[in-house]
Amino acid sequence: MSSKIKIWIDEAWRWPWLWSVVACALCFDPDNKPNKELLNKINDSKKLSEKKRDELYKELIKLSLWDNPKVFFGVWVVDNYIIDDINIRQANREAMRRALVELLRKIDNNKINSVVIDWNDNYEFDELEKQPLFIVGWDWKVLEIWAASIIAKVFRDKLMNTYSELYPELWIENHKWYGTKKHREYLTWKDKITWIHRLSYKPVKKILDAKPKLLLHICCGPDATVPIMDLKEKYDITCFWYDPNIQPKIEYNKRLKHFKKVCEIEDVPYIEWPYDVDNFMKEIKWLENTPERWDKCTNCYDMRMKKTAELAEELWIIEWTTTLNISPHKDLEKMFKIGDKYDLKHKLEFLKIAFRKNKWFERSVEYTKKHKIYRQNYCGCIYSDTYPEKYK
Ligand code: SF4
Repeated sequence: MSSKIKIWIDEAWRWPWLWSVVACALCFDPDNKPNKELLNKINDSKKLSEKKRDELYKELIKLSLWDNPKVFFGVWVVDNYIIDDINIRQANREAMRRALVELLRKIDNNKINSVVIDWNDNYEFDELEKQPLFIVGWDWKVLEIWAASIIAKVFRDKLMNTYSELYPELWIENHKWYGTKKHREYLTWKDKITWIHRLSYKPVKKILDAKPKLLLHICCGPDATVPIMDLKEKYDITCFWYDPNIQPKIEYNKRLKHFKKVCEIEDVPYIEWPYDVDNFMKEIKWLENTPERWDKCTNCYDMRMKKTAELAEELWIIEWTTTLNISPHKDLEKMFKIGDKYDLKHKLEFLKIAFRKNKWFERSVEYTKKHKIYRQNYCGCIYSDTYPEKYK
């Protein structure tokens, strides 16, 4: 090689959400170029079919292996861990630098005329006396850039095919690791993130930082207050109103209105289930006269918790709980057992939180005074111990 050499560097996989960035630094021997037939076939890798790219890749590799090579290249891969550590721009620079170092070992460095990179990152490389030239939009004109991009892309594709086999659930062949609709549909929750995802990329980071979802059953304004305030720090809460036990309807409406008021103050979404008092009366039939906390109340808790668990399963919310136990008049242990029963049935996780402890009740009293939230003075149904005279 006696004439001056031009080196071209290109990269593949800067934007995908997964794994590494790949760079290729390449030059032709200016005194011993590949034949015209091959040069005519080389084109922008984006315009070539996968099959054509593969064929050209093989030919370029062959030309780099002979005793008297016509093509020289270096290729390098910088993985997602480094991308997350130093950011994609610096990782890309490192992939290009290492690809360049690999190429510099194969050629006479005194013959280098210039190094050209098709982008405007303005990297500097200690290995070069004369720093690279950055040109935007030249890749459609230069055979060497096309050849470098063919090598980088096919190298990438070969690795991608291996990962397709390792992660069939990722449907890699459909999105080629980019943030497509299919990829977004797959990446709904943290446990879907694989060790090859780029965790620093916004959509992946958003999923990683997301709070777990919680379906929180609530039966009145006061019981909504402190549980929502405290739990929303840790969970992405959806509140659920299903309280067919509250009688009469006028009282039901009042409690519902104040439940909604708390949800609005705390800015959490809620679901309101229609009034279902006839079913409630069926649930407690023949048990009406049992004392509070006994059998009619067990059925009452069960009915509301059953509906909450069914909805949690339907909404794919694994964690769920109820604030029913904030009242010291309710049977905590019974509720926890009911929670276990529906966990087994629907594959959920009931949070066994004793809301009445740790001053939750006192704090709820403070909150209701401050925000003028209605606080009832009887449990709910017409068989409650302190059912008011005015409603009889
Ligand atoms: S007293 Fe309260 S918990 Fe018991 S059945 Fe009536 S509304 Fe339900």
